[in-house]
Amino acid sequence: MKYDLIVIGGGPAGMFAAGFAALNGAQVLLLEKNRRCGAKVLITGKGRCNITNSENEPLRFVEHFGRQGKALLTALYAFSVEDTIDFFEQRGLKLQIERGGRVFPAGGGAVEVQKLLQRFVVDSGVELLCDCEVKGFVTTGQQIDAVQTDRGDFVAAQYLIATGGLSYPETGCTGDGYDWAQQFGHKLVEPQAALMPLTLAEDWTGDCCDLNLKNVKLTAKREGRSIAERFGEAFFTRNGIGGPIVLDMSPEVRDALKKGAVTLHLDLKPAVENELFDKRLQREFAELSNKDFRNSLGKLLPKSMIPLFIELSEIDPYKKCHSITRGERKKLLDLFKDLTLHVTGHEGMKKAIVTSGGVSLKDIDMRTMRSKKVDNLYFAGEVIDLDGPTGGFNLQVCWSTGYLAGVSAAAAAMEA
Ligand SMILES: Cc1cc2nc3c(=O)[nH]c(=O)nc-3n(C[C@H](O)[C@H](O)[C@H](O)COP(=O)(O)OP(=O)(O)OC[C@H]3O[C@@H](n4cnc5c(N)ncnc54)[C@H](O)[C@@H]3O)c2cc1C
Repeated sequence: MKYDLIVIGGGPAGMFAAGFAALNGAQVLLLEKNRRCGAKVLITGKGRCNITNSENEPLRFVEHFGRQGKALLTALYAFSVEDTIDFFEQRGLKLQIERGGRVFPAGGGAVEVQKLLQRFVVDSGVELLCDCEVKGFVTTGQQIDAVQTDRGDFVAAQYLIATGGLSYPETGCTGDGYDWAQQFGHKLVEPQAALMPLTLAEDWTGDCCDLNLKNVKLTAKREGRSIAERFGEAFFTRNGIGGPIVLDMSPEVRDALKKGAVTLHLDLKPAVENELFDKRLQREFAELSNKDFRNSLGKLLPKSMIPLFIELSEIDPYKKCHSITRGERKKLLDLFKDLTLHVTGHEGMKKAIVTSGGVSLKDIDMRTMRSKKVDNLYFAGEVIDLDGPTGGFNLQVCWSTGYLAGVSAAAAAMEA
């Protein structure tokens, strides 16, 4: 049987593309190598799935993607943030907007999103073949004739690659789409891990990793100059530091590390100026005048950080608060306002939320998502060279490019 469209990869982009192509009248086959679609969706947003970001002004939305962002505009106009919200709510998944415009399911989470997407695919009339790994293509000139899989060859008028990136390889993302795109003559922008936790030289991070640091400021520096700065949430890990602000600055840190040493500077009290915070310390020590230093930090620090601060301050824990010197207080203040951490590296693809780089936008017609190298080939999702920060931006790329690629490929198949 000859299909109108074969979609390779049953992630969010592939499921969207396949479903909307079928709704537009195309006979669609979706090939997924895992036992079911959406393995990565299940781990998004720590199991809650941050579906999109409520920033629904397209021009502002694409600013989050840096220089590449404008290329996303057509896809975003074709399928906007509002369309995404409507899509899920009309299918019974109520959404809610949280801090930073992050849009999550109000009840349930990633499991419900994955089930809803797979149901959408099937209800739209897509033929879904799981446990089917695509191995390569049969081509003639600038045309694909068939796709080769471990379950035989399949033929279609149009083909669409939505195989994702390289991060979290256990979810099925092994970069196959990159290899095929290169074989077809597309330029590949070097795929690199992005949005990942950082590893630190400090050996004490594991002692504090039960702790969510809210409303903190983190500054990354190289040779004393600031290279990135974020406010928000972070947490220590067994061997480093993670959390939204760390993930967001990790690409800048990753690139800076290639040139030399990078330090992070954690301000636990960014809302309070140094001078004011010093007064607060003085007040605290005056009130607890005859108490040991070790018992004086309860109002200022989470419990699990107190032993660490006592050790790093090098102040005798049994020293009475009234005899703490100005110099000792200054050292303590620096720990609160400028705790210096030494970056040794990052967690790489194993723990990266997305892959930066991918199939060059120059080789894709972003008005349709069609390849400029192969006449009957389309791309969607993370496989292309577009990646944004945390906050629901990356899944929106999948919904918008998946939709646009799906309807464009369906239209091309109908025309033929
Ligand atoms: C831990 C984690 C949390 C995240 N949380 C969020 C979040 O909350 N919000 C957000 O916006 N983004 C989040 N992301 C990013 C988001 O999940 C990805 O950007 C998105 O899944 C990419 O979708 P995709 O369809 O392009 O590719 P994928 O989801 O990677 O899907 C690609 C599919 O292709 C299949 N495939 C690959 N090769 C072949 C082959 N040869 N044959 C057949 N099938 C193949 C794979 O098995 C896979 O199912 C998170 C990512 C991770 C890792």
